[in-house]
Amino acid sequence: MTDNCIFCKIIAGDIPSQTVYQDELITAFRDISPVAPTHLLIIPNQHIASLAQMGEEHAAILGRAVKVANDLAVSEGMAESGYRFITNVGPDAGQAVFHVHFHLVGGRPLGGMVRRVE
Ligand code: AMP
Ligand code: ZN
Repeated sequence: MTDNCIFCKIIAGDIPSQTVYQDELITAFRDISPVAPTHLLIIPNQHIASLAQMGEEHAAILGRAVKVANDLAVSEGMAESGYRFITNVGPDAGQAVFHVHFHLVGGRPLGGMVRRVE
């Protein structure tokens, strides 16, 4: 638990969340400001600032995160329709919370992945 990290506090149960899954490595909960019918955040229980701090030593966490994402896509009813699994790294990507998190988004057509920024 890292002081002043909102996601560490969610993992610890110190601030409320709509948690949908938790195991010894991973917690998943609903995004407070969803952009689609399903918008979950899948995060490691270990405090890691972003994907940029992750590597081969985190293979177990990353593998579990992918499995949990795919399982949740099934339980959310979007395994066939499709979904997106995204992480933002740093300012240009718009990372707002510096505890690495994967957005699992779906339940509607999501449009193109890359848009021109003027
Ligand atoms: P990012 O821009 O990739 O850092 O995404 C941060 C995400 O965390 C945003 O989609 C927020 O809506 C979400 N968020 C922030 N605070 C909370 C919270 N207390 N519970 C659930 N989601 C949150
Ligand atoms: Zn944290």
